[in-house]
Amino acid sequence: MWQMGHHQKSQLKVLISHEEIDKAVARLAGEISRDYAGKRPLFISVLKGSFVFMADLIRQLDLPVEIDFVRLSSYGAARETSGKVRVVQGIKTAIKGRDVLVVEDIVDTGITISFLLDYLRKKKPASLRLCVLTDKPSRRKVPVSIDYPGFTVPDKFIVGYGLDFDEEFRHLPDICELSS
Ligand code: 5GP
Ligand code: MG
Repeated sequence: MWQMGHHQKSQLKVLISHEEIDKAVARLAGEISRDYAGKRPLFISVLKGSFVFMADLIRQLDLPVEIDFVRLSSYGAARETSGKVRVVQGIKTAIKGRDVLVVEDIVDTGITISFLLDYLRKKKPASLRLCVLTDKPSRRKVPVSIDYPGFTVPDKFIVGYGLDFDEEFRHLPDICELSS
């Protein structure tokens, strides 16, 4: 079993195996490569959760890409966003006139990603699209249109493949449901 830190009593159940993730990543990379053929898009990964997904995704592309990272924070409880989002680390690349694809690990209420898309749209990219590995539509408060969706997940708290609980479990190769 996996090495665990201070959440010894937490229960983990595999929800999406790394084999299923690999297949989804290959499918998404194929769609993206086809849609952006002849272009050189800028992929923006939302830290920290989406770094694993981003790393796998770009290696399956048949395209030249540039990458950058943005870090957001929301005040509030550990498992849920408070609704007040702010940019902690902005992007370093100029995005005006660029084809921008945001790479995110999960969309829950939609508050975080809507905030980010509004923030980026103000910088006048040529195009702005969204690729999301996991989507929890049952929890949505703000409508979000996902151009490249990976998986729909139930209303459970998930960890692994970059996703954490209190900074733990990001290293797990599978996406797991966490119950305590
Ligand atoms: P939203 O603003 O869409 O409600 O969610 C924003 C953030 O909440 C996500 O980027 C993620 O950090 C966190 N989040 C929401 N659901 C989950 C979940 O099931 N697992 C983990 N690890 N984080 C989640
Ligand atoms: Mg996130």
